[in-house]
Amino acid sequence: MSLMILVGATGYGFMQYVRVDQTLGYVRDASEAEDYDHALSLLRSVRNNIAPRVIRNQSVLIDSYFLQITARKSQKSTYDEALSKLSANQNAMAMAIFDSIPPESFYYDRSMAVLEQTKRELSEQALGNAVMELEETADELAKSRIDIDDMKIQISSLQSDLKKALEERSVAQDEKRLVEREAVLERMAKEKAEFDSAILQDKVESGDRALVLEMAETHPQIKAIVNGRLDVYFDPLPSYADPSIAPVVTNVMEAFSTAHLYGASVNRVYNPGSADIHVKWIRDYGSHTLGMAIFKSVLEIGLGSTNCVDDWVPFDANTVTKVMWHELGHSLGYGHSSAPSNIMYPTTSTQYIYEQSISDVLAQNWYITFPLCGAGPYYYNFETSDVGSAGFDIYVLPPGEDAKGISSGNARVYSGCGAQGMIRFNGECNVSIGSKVYVSNNDYYSAIRISGTIINTGESDWPDMTWDESAFEYDSGELDNYWRMFN
Ligand SMILES: [Zn+2]
Repeated sequence: MSLMILVGATGYGFMQYVRVDQTLGYVRDASEAEDYDHALSLLRSVRNNIAPRVIRNQSVLIDSYFLQITARKSQKSTYDEALSKLSANQNAMAMAIFDSIPPESFYYDRSMAVLEQTKRELSEQALGNAVMELEETADELAKSRIDIDDMKIQISSLQSDLKKALEERSVAQDEKRLVEREAVLERMAKEKAEFDSAILQDKVESGDRALVLEMAETHPQIKAIVNGRLDVYFDPLPSYADPSIAPVVTNVMEAFSTAHLYGASVNRVYNPGSADIHVKWIRDYGSHTLGMAIFKSVLEIGLGSTNCVDDWVPFDANTVTKVMWHELGHSLGYGHSSAPSNIMYPTTSTQYIYEQSISDVLAQNWYITFPLCGAGPYYYNFETSDVGSAGFDIYVLPPGEDAKGISSGNARVYSGCGAQGMIRFNGECNVSIGSKVYVSNNDYYSAIRISGTIINTGESDWPDMTWDESAFEYDSGELDNYWRMFN
């Protein structure tokens, strides 16, 4: 019976042991599944339902499980709290909690892994932001490069404006230098005359006839007085001179011979060596000068100049006459007059024989325009040598009118100044400055040759041709003395 009890007791204890062992297995499973509440409730039921004196060893084990699982439950709640902060985007707080989890915690490795992952994500995010900012900066840079390109264009345009301004200034300076050079030459001539005259005064008083004769060599006025004659030589007219200039020489000589020169005769001679006045011809003086008296005995007379379309064109007879008479005045000792109407005024208006002489080929169904250099009355004639052609149309366009408008009938033209389908045409037109002659070939199939002349017929004012006595540079009392010395 006692054995039975023992056995019975032993049997009871063994039974308990098996059940506890099995339940602890469930506890471990729940713990591994991290269902700590379930694991703890299983432990509590085991502890309440076994007899500790029978299975003491198991009781110690249960207590140890209980402690471990309670600790893990607490660690899990810390870990879960960190995760919930993370999902709420409270990154700093989450990271602080993860950081606080001690190495002995069951959740340490996992926490570290999440922490690393979070740090990586945050730095990737920061990197992404930095890249975005860089891209924005790059965009702004690209924009400012466009601005810089604009500025470069502006700078280059400014540079070309500057270059143009410098070129214009250089042209202006060239013209200024020419004017200055002319002024210097004029002053030199005047100074020499004054110097000569001063010497003369000194010497004449001592009766030095030889010196007066020497002075006469470069002073035609004195030469006329001491010789009783004045010889003028003209260089042969150059081939480019217009035929109408030849009579000018004759007419001027005729007028010159009536000049009051103390009764001296004026003669045209054909040997430059024996001449008192030598007249030379100049094709084009350039900007301002029309003629020049060099030390009174050598005159240079301009025969033409460059017109507004850069062609050399000859002065007309009146212009050459005025220039010659002015320079002859200088050679006899007349300086510049302050009266604008007098021939000795420093400037005079000029007139060309023709303003343009045209010889051109006009392509089929094509046109050409000829700018007019001035304003006022114009005469022009055009003709084509291709008499079998359909001829040409001719119009005069007022300033600013586009020649392209002619074919569409949209251009304004001076009325009565043109015609259509012409082989030969003479016209007259009174124009404003900036006008142009338009000539077009009517023929659709062949070019035509045209020639023409454009003449500004406006009359220039004719000055008072009497040399201004108030501009006479010699002392007439002295000249009287010379006359008495040699006559
Ligand atoms: Zn002059």
